[in-house]
Amino acid sequence: MKPSTKAISTKPLPTPDLSDEQYLGAVCGLRPCRHGGLRVETEQLGSKKIIHNYGHGGCGVTISFGSAQLAADLVSKAAPKGDRIIVLGAGVVGLTTARELLHRGYQVIIYADKIAQDTTSSIAGALWLPVGIDFGDSPAKVQRMHDVLQRSQTVFRSLDPKLYGIEDLSIYEPKISSTEPDLFDTGIIAKPIKIDSFPFECAAEPGRVFKTLFIHNNRFLSAIHKDVIELGAEIRQRKFASIDELADLNESVMVNCLALGSRALFGDKQVYAARGVLVHMKPQDLGYGIHDGFKYLFPREDALILGGCFHEYDWDDKPDQEMIDEILNHHRRFFGQF
Ligand SMILES: Cc1cc2nc3c(=O)[nH]c(=O)nc-3n(C[C@H](O)[C@H](O)[C@H](O)COP(=O)(O)OP(=O)(O)OC[C@H]3O[C@@H](n4cnc5c(N)ncnc54)[C@H](O)[C@@H]3O)c2cc1C
Repeated sequence: MKPSTKAISTKPLPTPDLSDEQYLGAVCGLRPCRHGGLRVETEQLGSKKIIHNYGHGGCGVTISFGSAQLAADLVSKAAPKGDRIIVLGAGVVGLTTARELLHRGYQVIIYADKIAQDTTSSIAGALWLPVGIDFGDSPAKVQRMHDVLQRSQTVFRSLDPKLYGIEDLSIYEPKISSTEPDLFDTGIIAKPIKIDSFPFECAAEPGRVFKTLFIHNNRFLSAIHKDVIELGAEIRQRKFASIDELADLNESVMVNCLALGSRALFGDKQVYAARGVLVHMKPQDLGYGIHDGFKYLFPREDALILGGCFHEYDWDDKPDQEMIDEILNHHRRFFGQF
């Protein structure tokens, strides 16, 4: 699976309009982080086999299909094809896991408090970039994460880009935040190119540009939600207050895609939130994105997304005016509009 080699355009590109008239509102979401990183493993709890699939942090959309495949590999060891499997959670991780299991010939019932567009997953940008996650430092863990990324990107690139809202996007970075060189080491994302100037009006010092996938998240979530229903999944809305409630369900194999919910339900104290606020401006067809740490800008079809922040251990899920002003001021300064 090769990264995109489509040429990066050098022609002038539009500068976003960040005036007050463009402001639509702000949203806030809690990234489901975990010390020790992604947890995909089987745990026997009484008569139930629980296959965990959580800890996706700031890149759950990016790695969703890859971790879904890992979880489905574990399901294959626990139950024969045709069995009915429970998927707990209906964010991007629950839906992609359910989709993978259905494709492998299982029956699926999804239980979730909130579904698709009502979950944290719908808040994500979403840029295809493995950031905001603890990869782990052992060579085995790093290798596993690279496998997950590779498998995930292969699925993303196999989907109809129009139907699922996926495109290759040029991402520009200022020099000051051109970090994380190892993101490109495996070749899953093509190496960035150094630039001497930005092809749009900008007050920041130019750094580099690279291409990666951008996912128009509303369209993407609707499409995979539709997929699982068409493939025969049943979705039941239910909030679980304790693990004992799982014991009452008939099925013996369950995949846990409860994200932050895994902390309370399964007692995993390594799970924590990283708060993110995003400002929505009226949609603008820029044809590129900016990645400046968590102060990014993405031209999503339903809104121009201005990020943001990554506040670890902050469980406040409402946007605040101070952060909204900080985000707007940052981007206006970046584009010399202050
Ligand atoms: C501001 C922001 C920007 C982001 N940007 C990006 C990006 O650019 N690229 C990227 O790849 N990722 C990004 N992410 C990260 C991504 O959104 C998450 O990693 C991803 O959504 C996690 O998906 P999930 O399905 O595990 O969790 P969720 O979407 O939170 O879904 C969890 C599910 O579990 C259910 N649940 C939980 N507890 C219970 C319970 N007790 N009973 C019943 N149901 C329960 C919920 O109702 C829900 O259905 C961003 C996140 C934020 C907040």
